[in-house]
Amino acid sequence: MCRGRAVVWKEEPGAIVRREIGEGEVSAELERLEQALITARHEVNQLQKKLADAIGAKDASIFEVHLLILEDPVLLNESARRVREERVNAAFAFSEVARHYVAMLGSVDDPFFRERATDIRDVTQRVQNHLAGEGPRGAPPVMTEPGVIVSHDLTPSMTAQLDRSKVLGFATDVGSVTSHTAILAKSLGIPAVVGLHEAIGAISPGETILLDGYTGSVFLRPTDQTLFEYGQLARRRIELEDRLKEIRDEPAVTLDGKRIVLSANVEMAEDAGAVRESGAEGVGLFRTEYLFLHSPTLPDEEAQYLAYRTVAEGVVPHGVIVRTLDIGGDKFITHLPMPKEVNPFLGWRAIRFCLQQPELFRTQLRAILRASAHGSIRLMYPMISGVEEVLAANAMLEECKASLRAEGHAFNEGLEVGAMIEIPSAVMIADQLAEHVAFFSIGTNDLIQYTLAIDRLNDRIAHLYEPTHPAVLRLIRSTVEAAHARGRWVGVCGEMAGDPVLVPLLLGLGVDELSAAPASVPRIKHLVRRCRMGEARELAEWAVKQSRGSCILQRAEALAQRLAPILFSESKPTLTNLNPAEVDASASASL
Ligand code: PEP
Ligand code: MG
Repeated sequence: MCRGRAVVWKEEPGAIVRREIGEGEVSAELERLEQALITARHEVNQLQKKLADAIGAKDASIFEVHLLILEDPVLLNESARRVREERVNAAFAFSEVARHYVAMLGSVDDPFFRERATDIRDVTQRVQNHLAGEGPRGAPPVMTEPGVIVSHDLTPSMTAQLDRSKVLGFATDVGSVTSHTAILAKSLGIPAVVGLHEAIGAISPGETILLDGYTGSVFLRPTDQTLFEYGQLARRRIELEDRLKEIRDEPAVTLDGKRIVLSANVEMAEDAGAVRESGAEGVGLFRTEYLFLHSPTLPDEEAQYLAYRTVAEGVVPHGVIVRTLDIGGDKFITHLPMPKEVNPFLGWRAIRFCLQQPELFRTQLRAILRASAHGSIRLMYPMISGVEEVLAANAMLEECKASLRAEGHAFNEGLEVGAMIEIPSAVMIADQLAEHVAFFSIGTNDLIQYTLAIDRLNDRIAHLYEPTHPAVLRLIRSTVEAAHARGRWVGVCGEMAGDPVLVPLLLGLGVDELSAAPASVPRIKHLVRRCRMGEARELAEWAVKQSRGSCILQRAEALAQRLAPILFSESKPTLTNLNPAEVDASASASL
């Protein structure tokens, strides 16, 4: 929860950044330019058709001009020439040539030509948007004092630009609990409410707002009564956190003696302190892509090695599972241009991307291997869909080991490698995958998205994103069975592992490890320590036979509340006497 002044971050079209490119990048940049033009032409054709249906072909012919511009040989050849000869990125080359055209036509006295300048500006902006992909969306607001960011959306790369010490909380119009922005906010301990739909329109800059991430509510101009009630609630939550600190150094063991490994998810090297504080046994998921989001250039082997080593040394005597780069989806790196895709979550993401970018992947594998000489490190691959990906990645890992040996670098020869289980195909062949890896970690955020065909970012269908869907539970059970039959262990590192309501269910399904945001770890530990495997198994066995996820959720909630009532008694405010003007922003999804 937080209270503060709203800092509204409106997305302006981003400034086009000039980037020098190497000779090897020229053809990829030209290809991006070509793709952006093709997409823009397609869009204009569609617009023209739509308009022709609505108002007649004659009026829709204004788009003919746009199509002509998109095919103008001088514009295209000059842009391509600059990429080739001046070795600059396509977005910059194209924007410079377009700017030159606009300036030239805009200065002509004839209104006809001035109109054409407007057309060029309009249509070239369309191309630039495609070239920019998920690139910069305008500079972050300058914050001289702490405030609450209100924005339509916050991509992980936008979040990475913010001054963490000044951000009290986030409120966004779109997004859902498992979007990477929400995950990042959680791991930073920043209260966030996402999926508000109209926050950016309803909240003015400088307005005082109160944000409750537990219930997903945002209060505009809160009254004294509301502030008083929230003050009480905050006190009760702090008391609970103090109580949970008492078990910080105790193991996560059920009442009947089943030992669970309870670890934490981190995004940055400096998070090791929060992991220790939380009482987690090391790191179950190090999302390394945030190292890339935070750095102005691609971090080289040395920088990555230091980051992995810092985390590993920071959580001794426990270990770290470093996940290789999971770029794509909703995580894009501005200095690593990637084409805009229609379905990025089904596209060039994670292991698929890395296997096609061998230099980048090798750099990371070498850095992880070198760091393994200084602590207990395991490695895992994200988004595995089949055995061939594991074999290809393992082959590159072996190559890296050979080159490190030849160079005399130390590393752990027995480094364990695991696969994330996030795609239903991986579950179906978990027996085969288990032959090539030492462990599995189930990424439920993606597993749910890919199983139920629910975009994890889309707030309109967030209510259909159901962790307790029987299909999801059966997939988890199948994974555990396949792994245990081959002596492999299974963890869960998606958001499900950090939800106390779902923990008995996961234990009952047989998972061996849970990895959650450091802030969630004390609650999960409390719950594990109050659970018996008998009742957890009974719940899971019953659940996989049910047909409705809502019934399963209800029974899971009832059990969790009976086992650990203190975790639930403090979560809801007992607000009375609410001023209706305060509650006109309430979220469909919260954090
Ligand atoms: C997951 O998919 O559950 C997971 C842990 O990976 P990410 O959230 O980074 O996609
Ligand atoms: Mg994932």
